[in-house]
Amino acid sequence: MATSGPSSRSPIRASRRRPGPCGSLTSRLPLSFIHSFLDAALISPDTAFWELRGGTAALPDALLKEVRECIRFDRRVTRIEYWDPSRPHPETPHVSAEGSHVWVDTVSEGREGAPVREQFTADLAVITVPFSGLRHIQVAPLMSYGKRRAVTELHYGSATKVLFEFSGRWWEFSEEDWKRELATIAPGLYDSYGKGLAPADGSLLGRHDSVTGERLSANQRAFYAAYRSVTRDQPGAVASLGGGSVSDNPNRFTFNPSHSVPGSPGGVVLASYTWADDAMRWDAFDDDARYPHALTGLQEIYGQRIEIFYTGAGRTQSWARDPYAYGEASVLLPGQHTELFPHIATPEGPLHFAGDHTSLKPAWIEGAVESAVRVALQVHSAR
Ligand SMILES: Cc1cc2nc3c(=O)[nH]c(=O)nc-3n(C[C@H](O)[C@H](O)[C@H](O)COP(=O)(O)OP(=O)(O)OC[C@H]3O[C@@H](n4cnc5c(N)ncnc54)[C@H](O)[C@@H]3O)c2cc1C
Repeated sequence: MATSGPSSRSPIRASRRRPGPCGSLTSRLPLSFIHSFLDAALISPDTAFWELRGGTAALPDALLKEVRECIRFDRRVTRIEYWDPSRPHPETPHVSAEGSHVWVDTVSEGREGAPVREQFTADLAVITVPFSGLRHIQVAPLMSYGKRRAVTELHYGSATKVLFEFSGRWWEFSEEDWKRELATIAPGLYDSYGKGLAPADGSLLGRHDSVTGERLSANQRAFYAAYRSVTRDQPGAVASLGGGSVSDNPNRFTFNPSHSVPGSPGGVVLASYTWADDAMRWDAFDDDARYPHALTGLQEIYGQRIEIFYTGAGRTQSWARDPYAYGEASVLLPGQHTELFPHIATPEGPLHFAGDHTSLKPAWIEGAVESAVRVALQVHSAR
């Protein structure tokens, strides 16, 4: 186990350290080393990372303001026809040399009534759908052999997160803070937790006075008790603001918030962030089933006593099961950088391709932005 973070003040007790999980790289061992190598080069103390104030959504929200009038939401592309004089055109009635060069058929999600069909025509199209999603869009005429192989074979990773709300930021606590807060629940509870002798039947979940409301159900307590980790080895206080850990338990990465919530003593912890095969172990569970496992993993790292601040609220997201993402990102298999990568970004007649998967920085916003600049230059220099 290893912890990192700008203000990590005291290391987790040495006895908790085990043979290294190598920053979760073990989950990607069967994948191309180049991806892990590039990641290791990018995620380094020498790299300047920028935090978007207000959250990452601030970037697309700001861009959206500029182009809101031109965007049609709630339309899923189902079929693309394009005109390319070098290809046979047996099944493309909507495009021609003289008319539109691109025709796109779409359907709405149908959440508010019957699905709506709508078609669009254009001189050219920039396709930013991940190839794992493009696989389900019909494209006529057939694209080049190299592109079709890339769309079919490009490997996409998995990523899954589980987050918990706590009414107190226990990760910032010292042992003195723990003594004070546990004494408000029961005399001797601090020592019971320290010796691994506190009840593990779920009765202490959310027991701190700061946990308000009744989110913790009897079922949650029962599942928690069933899946709890039985250990007397209770780690000491962490006293850290921000930063994270990587563990060899199923949770793998955990991250504590670097900011406090104004006016609140609580916060939200990313209890589990997993990639690749590690993430697939979580994806098998329904959302609700992930929470007791993730809480147990977090307690193995930070101690059983954190349960007193658990409010019963959590969120989980699997990108492999997300109908818009179709996976975490393109994380290539060995050989795909030489066999498939050269075909990913090449235009197919009037079809141009952008998105982080067309860059050498997949899974990075920077890769998506780089690809947008590349395609903008490509399109404008061709006109
Ligand atoms: C768990 C996780 C953590 C990440 N962390 C970071 C990070 O810390 N820093 C960082 O820089 N990057 C991070 N990234 C990567 C970043 O989110 C991506 O690089 C970026 O979102 C890629 O942008 P994009 O436009 O290429 O693709 P996307 O954002 O995937 O956009 C593709 C769009 O296509 C749409 N679409 C799909 N199918 C269709 C269809 N049939 N018809 C019409 N539209 C369709 C989707 O709805 C989606 O809006 C992370 C990604 C994940 C999953």
